[in-house]
Amino acid sequence: MCLLHSEINSDKMAKTDKTKSAKATAPKVLTDNSMKFLEKYLNNPSPTGFESVGQKIWLEYMKPYIDDYIVDTYGTAVGIINPDAEFKVVIEAHADEISWFVHYITDDGMIYVKRNGGSDHQIAPSKRVIIHTDKGPVTAVFGWPAIHVRKSEKEHTPKSTNIWLDCGARSKKEVEEMGVHVGCVITYPDEFIILNNDHFVGRALDNRIGGFMIAEVARMLKENKKKLPFGLYIVNSVQEEIGLRGAEMIVERLRPNVAIVTDVCHDTTTPMMNKLEQGDFKSGDGPVLSYAPAVQNNLLKLIIGAAKDNKIDFQRMAASRYTGTDTDAFAFGAGGVASALISLPLRYMHTTVEMVHRNDVESVIQLIYQSLLKIENNHDFRYIK
Ligand SMILES: [Zn+2]
Repeated sequence: MCLLHSEINSDKMAKTDKTKSAKATAPKVLTDNSMKFLEKYLNNPSPTGFESVGQKIWLEYMKPYIDDYIVDTYGTAVGIINPDAEFKVVIEAHADEISWFVHYITDDGMIYVKRNGGSDHQIAPSKRVIIHTDKGPVTAVFGWPAIHVRKSEKEHTPKSTNIWLDCGARSKKEVEEMGVHVGCVITYPDEFIILNNDHFVGRALDNRIGGFMIAEVARMLKENKKKLPFGLYIVNSVQEEIGLRGAEMIVERLRPNVAIVTDVCHDTTTPMMNKLEQGDFKSGDGPVLSYAPAVQNNLLKLIIGAAKDNKIDFQRMAASRYTGTDTDAFAFGAGGVASALISLPLRYMHTTVEMVHRNDVESVIQLIYQSLLKIENNHDFRYIK
């Protein structure tokens, strides 16, 4: 989820009626092989603007399940089923992860950074990082003054302008000899773990878990031998975190008829969240469906129908001017595309310990899959015919 647009959307509020069907009965969908792919895909760095290695891993997994694929100039990857069909349906997620840039190197070898996406300055001090250089990865650490030397009454708080990296070099020359230069991109090395069997934790689950989920939909279509009456475009967009840019590009190229987008939203049940401001969403309680001007209501009704028919629990969100996701780019692109958003509730967004519930991951996959099965060729979603 992109910080840029979600910041503006301060009047996002939950609707009070949470639809609760019987306990989720969706069959387990994740296989050992899909979990292996998830781990490999998540552990690989995919910073905004530099997503291509991750896109290759994603396409490699997708290939058995698609008829064709395209990759655009900036790296958005699209797996296609039924490429000759005229009616085009998109399922979409974004491929990029928030990161930092090397911004300024001091004479004594300290490295100051600039955000690439909504990276969180508060979590940076004491973290290890990888600086990506042409000579290979360089390990560094975010330093911070010791607790002993800080004045407790006026402690510095970490800001993007006062955090720095130490890569063990004592001069700018030494930093440069390691291959580090202004513009090198920086990611965290934190890897995928599972807590208590069903809580997936990793950096940048926002939103590579989305790329994973749409790939799983393609796998299920193939394995269940489902023949769709339209062209399906499984889109893994680049550059969402800096303002939905990859989606803005690919919607014009594809000019689809329908787009179902998936991204993450906040689980607001953890400490220090404000439900009055952020709404009431809990991971483990199912996918979150947004009501918003960008969401086409007849498509949303079809998705709700798919959820109810298949006993998939879901939650509702009221968004305002922006959903803060690629949904906006699809809805308002290519002359207006019937779009909807299926969100996965996530704890600790834009930290290195983003957390989602396995049941929700499976339910989002099921809900996208079942919704696709309800869409007809030349499906007319217009309100007035
Ligand atoms: Zn995000």
